[in-house]
Amino acid sequence: MLDLSSLWKLEKNHESLYSMKNEMKLLQERTEFHKLEKKCQELEERHENLLIKMKEVRLHLRKLEQEVDTHKEKSRMAELTLYNGSVKDLKQLEHLEKEKEYHRNLIDVLEDKIIDSMGISEDTESRIDEIYRLLSESKGDLVEKQNLIDESSAKLKNGMEVLEKTIENLEGEIDGARLSKYNDIRKRKGSGIAEMKNDVCNGCHMHIPEKIVEKARQGKAVVTCENCGRILYGVLEQEDI
Ligand SMILES: [Zn+2]
Repeated sequence: MLDLSSLWKLEKNHESLYSMKNEMKLLQERTEFHKLEKKCQELEERHENLLIKMKEVRLHLRKLEQEVDTHKEKSRMAELTLYNGSVKDLKQLEHLEKEKEYHRNLIDVLEDKIIDSMGISEDTESRIDEIYRLLSESKGDLVEKQNLIDESSAKLKNGMEVLEKTIENLEGEIDGARLSKYNDIRKRKGSGIAEMKNDVCNGCHMHIPEKIVEKARQGKAVVTCENCGRILYGVLEQEDI
């Protein structure tokens, strides 16, 4: 009796190997990983830009404060001259009064600007904190994802090695002519052997003519499906055993 079970096992191992190879391919494409990597880069850029902005705001604030100090000093000097009795001329006194007023007004304007800048500074600072938090989170995810990828890759690699070895062993058990016939069909169709159930080929789902079923039942030669060309394997052989 013709025994096709090794060929059938070979087919199943090829199927598993094929799906593992696909899984490995997806893993190596690392679509999710690249998305996350891009997100990290964007967050890093935003963080960097906000730090630059923060530096500028602080510099601006310092400049405003220095200006306030300058005008306070000038106003103080005008006031001093105004009230120390050294100037008697009315016009000159009027001029000094105006000068003092001028510096006072400028101080008010500058102090408003300082309040605005302090608001911007606080806002920028909290945005920096938020972006930094997101960035740390994303970087953590990235490391985790990389570890998962490494782990899965190693598992797949092992699984594939086992399958390849099994395939090699099975190929050694199968008659050479039959094996090359099977490999030819598999190359063309993706699979070389199909299960036959209730007179239907599970490779192409077509009904198998009675004479072919009969031929397969005799079990003297390898019988192929007339429609798809796959070697027929299935219940008949098992029933006959
Ligand atoms: Zn078929």
